[in-house]
Amino acid sequence: MDLKSLIRDVPDFPQAGIMFRDITTLLADPGGLRYTLDSLTQKCAGLGVDRVVGIESRGFIVGVPLAEKLGVGFVPARKPGKLPAAVHSIEYSLEYGTDRLEIHQDALQPGNRVLIADDVIATGGTALAAADLVAQTGAILAGFAFVIELAGLQGRSRLPQVPIITLVEY
Ligand code: AMP
Repeated sequence: MDLKSLIRDVPDFPQAGIMFRDITTLLADPGGLRYTLDSLTQKCAGLGVDRVVGIESRGFIVGVPLAEKLGVGFVPARKPGKLPAAVHSIEYSLEYGTDRLEIHQDALQPGNRVLIADDVIATGGTALAAADLVAQTGAILAGFAFVIELAGLQGRSRLPQVPIITLVEY
């Protein structure tokens, strides 16, 4: 399936010079949605993970159904101040700005094998921050899953040496 034909390109969002790859049009297409989730599930099945960590907020859209299809649990990595119990926290840089991510301290156990999921890998800063959070919990990072890779930004090169699953490359 040609997923690119279902992904909307929005120039200059959220600021000038950014070509935003909008997955809402892909999510709204029943066949595209099913193909996306089936493909990610198939490619991630061999990683032997027992938790999916989704990055707020589009990582939740991808991560929750992926976790369910893999038969494992889901853990949110959230923007600051959203999680109610004790958290690990880390600041990171985006393609456009800086932000902070948090994870519940008790959400992962040492020995858990974790897959980090998001819609897009751009510079890799967000995914790297999520990997640092997973490391703070003592769990094992087993891989990353993204629908879209912006290959020109070479985010992949910043990430730890684990499998990086992607479906569409720009
Ligand atoms: P980065 O930390 O640079 O890899 O940025 C990844 C995060 O920002 C992901 O959560 C994406 O949802 C979002 N993002 C960055 N650049 C884009 C883009 N060009 N189109 C869509 N989402 C983007």
